[in-house]
Amino acid sequence: MKIKASELQCPFCQPGIRRFIYYKNNGYLAVVNIAPVLPGHSLVIPEHHKTTITSLDAKELQLFMQTAQKATFILMKAFGTDAFDWSVQEKPEAGQSIEHLHMHIVPRLKNDLEKPGDWYPLVHKNDIEIIDSMNRPKLGFDELRKIVDKLKEVAGNMML
Ligand SMILES: [Zn+2]
Repeated sequence: MKIKASELQCPFCQPGIRRFIYYKNNGYLAVVNIAPVLPGHSLVIPEHHKTTITSLDAKELQLFMQTAQKATFILMKAFGTDAFDWSVQEKPEAGQSIEHLHMHIVPRLKNDLEKPGDWYPLVHKNDIEIIDSMNRPKLGFDELRKIVDKLKEVAGNMML
């Protein structure tokens, strides 16, 4: 298989991303964000390089959204909440800095931010933080490992 330059440089196509996976669904992954804006901040991505949600066919779109919903169930259970935000930035004009389709999922708790809507500007600049954090995650590998293990354990106890 020919690997394109864009995939070589893509943070979500690097093998290191695999250690942050806590849920897999037929080529779609839920991973812990290495530079979270709030605890539990996750990303749902296709395992293989795809740039946009509009490039997915009907089956792929179904798997992507289903993976996002299941990851959300896991986060709701793990963080004891039914509140969350979802966000997809499509194209640089909309704030997409990593050209690999990704949905941000942020579980929310009462009073976790001064104003509930403050999450959006944080997520908007988060792609850059992910790129900056690829070699040295903001949280550190030990802390990330703990979160991934906890989410895997929660997922394992659920009928997903
Ligand atoms: Zn990629």
